[in-house]
Amino acid sequence: MKRLSGIHLPHWKRTEEQPVRALPLPETVRLPMLMHTGDPCQPAVKKGDHVLLGQLVGEAVSESAVPIHASVSGTVSAITQYRTADGTEVPCVEITSDGEQRIFDGCQPPSVKSRDDLIRAARESGCVGLGGSGKPTFLKLAAVQKPQMLIVNGAECEPYLTSDSRLMTEHPEDVIEGTVLIMRLLKIKEARIGIQTDKPAAIRKLSELSAAQKGITVCPLPAVYPQGAEKVVIYHTCGKVIPEGKTAADLGLITLNVSTVAFLYQYVQTGIPMTERVVTVDGDAIKKPFNLRVPIGTNAVRLLEYTGCDFDHLHKLLCGGPMMGAALSSPDFPILKPQNGLIACKSAKQPKPSPCIRCGRCIRVCPLNLMPVQLERAYQKQDIRMLTAHHITLCMNCGCCSYVCPAHRPLADVIQQAKTLLPKP
Ligand code: SF4
Ligand code: SF4
Repeated sequence: MKRLSGIHLPHWKRTEEQPVRALPLPETVRLPMLMHTGDPCQPAVKKGDHVLLGQLVGEAVSESAVPIHASVSGTVSAITQYRTADGTEVPCVEITSDGEQRIFDGCQPPSVKSRDDLIRAARESGCVGLGGSGKPTFLKLAAVQKPQMLIVNGAECEPYLTSDSRLMTEHPEDVIEGTVLIMRLLKIKEARIGIQTDKPAAIRKLSELSAAQKGITVCPLPAVYPQGAEKVVIYHTCGKVIPEGKTAADLGLITLNVSTVAFLYQYVQTGIPMTERVVTVDGDAIKKPFNLRVPIGTNAVRLLEYTGCDFDHLHKLLCGGPMMGAALSSPDFPILKPQNGLIACKSAKQPKPSPCIRCGRCIRVCPLNLMPVQLERAYQKQDIRMLTAHHITLCMNCGCCSYVCPAHRPLADVIQQAKTLLPKP
């Protein structure tokens, strides 16, 4: 099978051999009522209420939303406003911890015996894609009536990030049991777990455990960025190509991140909803990089202090990996459910873009065979027909084209901007 293009990046995965450690409990958490793609929740508590770990604090009022639960036990100290990445203001529940982490009585293992039970449980757990997508998991499970295959994504191709890798090494049984659970209830005969070859321990452990399970195959994947992008991992694990305008669900495929699968399994065992996550904290401004298990809503400053961030020389802070992560204007923000990485970088000179020299490198590395340089030109001309003719909607904003451009043209950013010119579907 022909491999899709991509780029070889330095891995900088300094945390891959270190066990995950728990961050000391923060004094407060802030829980914005929007941590998933879709509509925001409404606060289900008011100032002064006492809440327990796992208790509902944000009610999912729209069909596409998932609820939000208290990540610490304590007192609701304020209901404030929070500005999301796209500028939308949503309510935010602040909880001052009582330090006890008492679990809410209502957190009981759900009865999960059918497809509908699993979809309901995934929704009630507040589960979203932990690989960074933030898409409510129940929507992915419900999107395909008769799924052909489950693809479990353990590629984790971004530099620095190792939270999935640590999960697969420390708790491989959760990944396999979660995969078995989803296959059984959704009547899926085949599952493929895609893992990059730079994670040999994860490949070995999951291969050993899956050998006893019918229908599960571990697929070692070349360590090439963006191996973990949905379209790429699907192609390299099962050879299917998602046509323009279609989704994985249209091909009968369900793709889930390894941490999401493991969380679903744990939720069915314990009934404790999504209240914490593991975040890789790294970058050249970080002295002691770690994977930290933190309550959702913990202020990022706490993580940066714990890892010895050099705040005096902090130039760029990214939420997620360095290739597809979002730049943050300030470290004063709460860790949200989808945030798998916090990358702190020291000052680095950004070369100025120069005119295109028509080298074609951007075209050669695009995994989806797009022509980034033509998309940039179409944007400069504000030419929607040309953007469409060059299949702009296929672009997954992986950043490979910008990375290799010798003229330092910000192609991926321009293409993202160009998408805003398209008529809304
Ligand atoms: S950002 Fe888009 S155009 Fe550039 S390489 Fe990635 S998919 Fe291709
Ligand atoms: S990589 Fe940069 S210089 Fe080369 S063709 Fe693409 S835009 Fe032009």
